[in-house]
Amino acid sequence: MAASKSLLDSLKKPEPTNFRMTDFRRELHLRHKREEHAKKEKLRALQESKYVSRYAITIDTSRARSNCDVLRMSIKELGFKEYPFGRKDNCCDVHWHACHFEENPEVFGGKVNKFPGMSEICSKMTLFRCLDIMRDLFPTDYDFYPRTWYLPAQFHEFSCEIRKMHERRVKPKPTFIIKPDTGAQGDGIYLLREPNEYSSLSGKCHVAQEYMSNVYLIDKFKFDFRIYVLLKSLEPLEFYICQEGLARFSTLPYENPTNKNIHESFMHLTNYSLNKRSSTFNRSDRDDEGSKRTLTSVLRRIAMNGHDSNKVWKSIERIVCKTIVAIVPEMKVEYQAAIPPGKTGPSCFQVLGFDILLLQNLKPILLEINASPSLSLDSEQEVSPGVFEYVLSPKDEEVKYPLIRDTLLHVVPIDKLKYFRKKKKQRLLKKLKASTSQKSKRPDPPVKQRTSIVIIKADESDEEKREVNVTQQMSEMHMDVDSHGDSTARDVNSDDERESNIKSDTELDEEVDNYFETKLRESCLKQLYPAIYDEECERYRILERVAGLFIFFLGIRGSLRIGPTGFRTFARKCRLNRKGMTNASVDIMYIDLQRRWDHMNPERTSGLCYQGFLDACIEIARRKFYAPTKIEMLENLVDHCELNLNLRDNDLANNLPRLHFRRLGLQYRQGSMYAMPRRVIDQMTEETTIEDLLKAHEKKLRQPSREDIEAFLRKSRRMIYQPSSGSRVISVTKSPDSE
Ligand code: ADP
Repeated sequence: MAASKSLLDSLKKPEPTNFRMTDFRRELHLRHKREEHAKKEKLRALQESKYVSRYAITIDTSRARSNCDVLRMSIKELGFKEYPFGRKDNCCDVHWHACHFEENPEVFGGKVNKFPGMSEICSKMTLFRCLDIMRDLFPTDYDFYPRTWYLPAQFHEFSCEIRKMHERRVKPKPTFIIKPDTGAQGDGIYLLREPNEYSSLSGKCHVAQEYMSNVYLIDKFKFDFRIYVLLKSLEPLEFYICQEGLARFSTLPYENPTNKNIHESFMHLTNYSLNKRSSTFNRSDRDDEGSKRTLTSVLRRIAMNGHDSNKVWKSIERIVCKTIVAIVPEMKVEYQAAIPPGKTGPSCFQVLGFDILLLQNLKPILLEINASPSLSLDSEQEVSPGVFEYVLSPKDEEVKYPLIRDTLLHVVPIDKLKYFRKKKKQRLLKKLKASTSQKSKRPDPPVKQRTSIVIIKADESDEEKREVNVTQQMSEMHMDVDSHGDSTARDVNSDDERESNIKSDTELDEEVDNYFETKLRESCLKQLYPAIYDEECERYRILERVAGLFIFFLGIRGSLRIGPTGFRTFARKCRLNRKGMTNASVDIMYIDLQRRWDHMNPERTSGLCYQGFLDACIEIARRKFYAPTKIEMLENLVDHCELNLNLRDNDLANNLPRLHFRRLGLQYRQGSMYAMPRRVIDQMTEETTIEDLLKAHEKKLRQPSREDIEAFLRKSRRMIYQPSSGSRVISVTKSPDSE
């Protein structure tokens, strides 16, 4: 009985081994399927990534934050590929970040829209210090920003200046503006008239500036310009100005500062972020009305008031050039620290916002540079009391969208752009041909319909969708045409139409070809340097050579400070001892300057910063390389150092008697079409005249002839020489100060 029960039980139970076998097989099958799928996916991803890396221009917008809207619009318009969450391998052509360069350490290639250290360089203290150095060297040229004191370090000088002004009974009573060093959007800014009104309790550093009270008013309101500048590359230096910008107006009618109105920020400050909270903020959609207007509408208004707006714009362009040239040495020092030579890193570009005030006499005044100007397209609007809503601002869109679109066109890799363009054209032509052959028995569609396909600039999927739509529409049109019995008429004209279709193909070819060229030509960005202000800015670029020396002696890669050994090596290798600098005097100078510049070093890291090194160079130049002006002294020192270090190309303008050239009203410039024999340059003396130079040329060179040089001199006031063996490449330009 028991045996039969156990037999029954065993019969009831499912066969365990059989069950396991089926399960196992199913599992195996599923795993196999999964593996197949993964393989396919991998292959597809690989193909896609190959395709993307070859064809598509990729933009990483994962950290673009408030810049996303405008960026997305531009990417769509240009047909580039956006990566809103970044790429796994972090390899995009452009990385657009709304944060600082330093916050993205894992980007190793492509382009990044931020330069290293730029936010620090654009802080008020560093910026105005850079400008002060330039003002010291070129006093008449760097007069476009208010006098500045650095507080608390220069509080004594600042209060002495106020006291002196009071004693002189300066009218109107002077007013000063205090701004936190790293502040923005008008935060922490106030006006004062007595030094004891300055509060240093916050422990923050401030700049104090002369308050420019005699400003140009429109409709009785104070305003300032936001000018956008694209700094495309540092080496070689290249930058562009956006021909459209914004004008931000205050929201209380302006009055000269008095003790009564000195605290009215809606009257004295023009920041949009501040004034939008004012009940009198005017949100008019018209270009030339409201508290935010376009730059061109204000320039037009200035012209309508009978002033020369072109002159104003030219002065603004010059301010931009001089300011960028002033910060470039600092930028180079920062750049080598972040991306030392030999280390792989991205190349950089940056859109900067210049804030410029206009005085009553229409002289533009630089207030600050914004390293991350706002690129958002929407503005806050109070829909009911206390309730705010974000609405698209047409003026922001009008200015910022072309700016970003054209910036992208300037910075994406040129070779990819060409390839991308070629592929795009091939794809379009193939599609077009396919659709034509499909309908070869049918009459060709009218030319108008064909060309309408060409102007498609959306991303891949959209493009295809739209093409399908257009093709569908076209076939529907054919059906319509056929059903209306127009086909006979079409047959008669088919030859003509085919001809015009061939023409339209070439037109199409041209159109695709010219698309990017046209876009670049019609760009809102105008190249300032080197295209226009190359010669004018040449003489301001001396400090880049000082920065070059500083970088040369830094010693540790990626450092920002020169140590005592580095400084001693600088003096030794540049043979400054031959000029009477003893080792002891070099050491004393180092200690002295390091102490003086310590307030710029809150972390108390040892070493001398670039600006301290520059001070040292100016001091050495003053003591040992005497010349009538500071800039000449510095030039002599740098020439001497570069010569001893052999920093310059073998015989490239080494030890040139620059002063003699300057005396002749000529100025050096590197890189040229002609060359001057070394012997001629070496034989130049104080007495050499232009005539002597020309004679020497006539003897030595067949090309250019004397007439050529004379004509050239007369025409462009510029003399350049052909390189030949045994001669060094230089060019000589007419010095602006001798004009
Ligand atoms: P923030 O970085 O906080 O915006 P700004 O330097 O741009 O600081 O100054 C804010 C506003 O204050 C400017 O838009 C301008 O209207 C006014 N302002 C700043 N400096 C001066 C000055 N020296 N003279 C007159 N107005 C000034």
